[in-house]
Amino acid sequence: MIAITGPYPPAVFRAVNGKVMAAAGRQPVEVPAGTSLADIRWKKPHRAVVPKKSAPTTHLVPGSSGDRYEVVLWSDGTARCNCWGYRRWRKPCKHIKMVKVVGQQQEITNDSRE
Ligand SMILES: [Zn+2]
Repeated sequence: MIAITGPYPPAVFRAVNGKVMAAAGRQPVEVPAGTSLADIRWKKPHRAVVPKKSAPTTHLVPGSSGDRYEVVLWSDGTARCNCWGYRRWRKPCKHIKMVKVVGQQQEITNDSRE
């Protein structure tokens, strides 16, 4: 039995270098050749209890180039955006700030150009 810890049900696969690997959603580990899924014991990591957030609200924010960005806002103030700036920096972007300023409006009109 090989114990694998990870958040997802384990998988056994052959890597490009020919080694047999096992992974459970994390960094794969090398296992002996011939290992099958039946030899793997999945250990789920203990998870910290995360307070349940209420359902988020989605806001469409017009961008400067005519695109629309989707900002998802949770009641605790956390938010995410699908613009490149947020994806790259993981910091509140202008779209998130706009949504927070305007509040719970579903549609936000903004004709300002940058
Ligand atoms: Zn954004």
